[in-house]
Amino acid sequence: MPANPERELARLRARFQQRAEELSQIGFMIRGSIIERLSRCGSTGCGCHDEPPRLHGPYWQWTSKVKGKTVTRNLSDDEVSRYREWMENAKRFDQIVQDLHHLSAEADQVLRTTQRESASRKVSAPGPPARS
Ligand SMILES: [Zn+2]
Repeated sequence: MPANPERELARLRARFQQRAEELSQIGFMIRGSIIERLSRCGSTGCGCHDEPPRLHGPYWQWTSKVKGKTVTRNLSDDEVSRYREWMENAKRFDQIVQDLHHLSAEADQVLRTTQRESASRKVSAPGPPARS
């Protein structure tokens, strides 16, 4: 257990505060992944049906699970950079939230150890001398 639980808790609280404030700096976010796709069209005379095929694209496609359903959206080049930025924001958000959970777990550990130590101190306090 830390030598000084009070100071350790203060340190954890300050770190938690600092990390939590970073959350407010994050911009819009979006989850999912972006894939590059090549495709084949419907007209049989097109080069995309040749062997080897000259496929159309590449196209950018964003895929994500929204309420359990996979959603797919075609993206323009501008949208791709915006989506990438928003996906980065989401990643940062997750990282910070994870850190907040870790810091809380550490604080919990400090508090539980401190409580257990003071409890065992009571238990092991000298009782009346044993008779023989
Ligand atoms: Zn084609």
